[in-house]
Amino acid sequence: MQKQIFLIDKLKEDRTLTKHEWVQLITERTPEAAEYLFALAREERHIHYGHDVYIRGLIEFTNYCKNDCLYCGIRKSNSHANRYRLSEEDILDCCRTGYGLGFRTFVLQGGEDAFYTDERIVRLISSIKDRYPDCALTLSIGEKSRESYRQYFEAGADRYLLRHETSNSIHYSRLHPPSLTAKARKECLWNLKEIGYQVGTGFMVGSPYQTAEHLAEDMLFIRELNPHMVGIGPFIVHRDTPFAGQTSGTLELTLFMLGLLRLMLPKALLPATTALGTIDPNGRELGILSGANVVMPNLSPTGVRKDYSLYDNKICTGDEAAECRSCLERRMEAIGYRIVTARGDSLN
Ligand code: SAH
Repeated sequence: MQKQIFLIDKLKEDRTLTKHEWVQLITERTPEAAEYLFALAREERHIHYGHDVYIRGLIEFTNYCKNDCLYCGIRKSNSHANRYRLSEEDILDCCRTGYGLGFRTFVLQGGEDAFYTDERIVRLISSIKDRYPDCALTLSIGEKSRESYRQYFEAGADRYLLRHETSNSIHYSRLHPPSLTAKARKECLWNLKEIGYQVGTGFMVGSPYQTAEHLAEDMLFIRELNPHMVGIGPFIVHRDTPFAGQTSGTLELTLFMLGLLRLMLPKALLPATTALGTIDPNGRELGILSGANVVMPNLSPTGVRKDYSLYDNKICTGDEAAECRSCLERRMEAIGYRIVTARGDSLN
């Protein structure tokens, strides 16, 4: 326990630890150390962001994907997935609804879908930014060339979410097909940063074969990248993937990692993710109380929600956008936080 407190204090002081120290802190964590960590994490969060919670309107616009990530329910080989893509008009409808509900950030997320050529993505970005110049637009559409990223940025995209998934290249290769590598994924993140995007990275907690060493390497990579946002959530089994028989990640370790991230990057944006809300009914509230400061409710049309199935039992697949918005508002108020209507740019 003393050792744990010492390491948590050292993290707060230095904003980083050695790999060995990260491993120690993670493997020897105790509930008491976690409580201590969360109190410090909340303190940091309140200094920079007060009790505000930023909201992002998530629009899952296509579940077609050319990739075959072993954990993901919309992987190419999943023939049970009911494929859909939203038209530009559908997407603009989602934005209109979202804007009316107070969203000032839209996140376009999807599989790597060849139908959405650079030309189509650029047109989509321009249409959204023309109509909603006061909103931030985030893309989360996977690995693209530097030139494509540049075109999207020039068209008006402000932010890009691309989780590195795991920093360790051997672990990465056990979660992905041989066509995908940790090196290429990281290269994309450096390109995005250099172009000028506000960048979000992140990883799954408890993914198959993950060790404390891997998590330590994730922390070191994130420290080096110094992103604006870090999205983490538990790995959750999807029945129609090669990982159907694996075990999902835990609430407990995800919360602990959130607390560590808040101490390492005090000014970063940290979402309490839908996956966290899926493994525990109070997951998102507990995420906020561990240092998170963002929630990302769904703006996708209800008709397609259940088809954007990355993992089993995803929450909120039946709710209208307005219901999600008011449900989260109540949940945040119940724990002393408030949802704000703002772009919510990162201070990091
Ligand atoms: N195609 C985009 C978006 C991927 S989906 C891209 O490549 O970035 C967004 C995130 O969901 C992924 O980065 C992954 O970390 C997470 N995810 C996918 N399958 C998951 C699962 N089974 N459990 C938990 N999270 C998952």
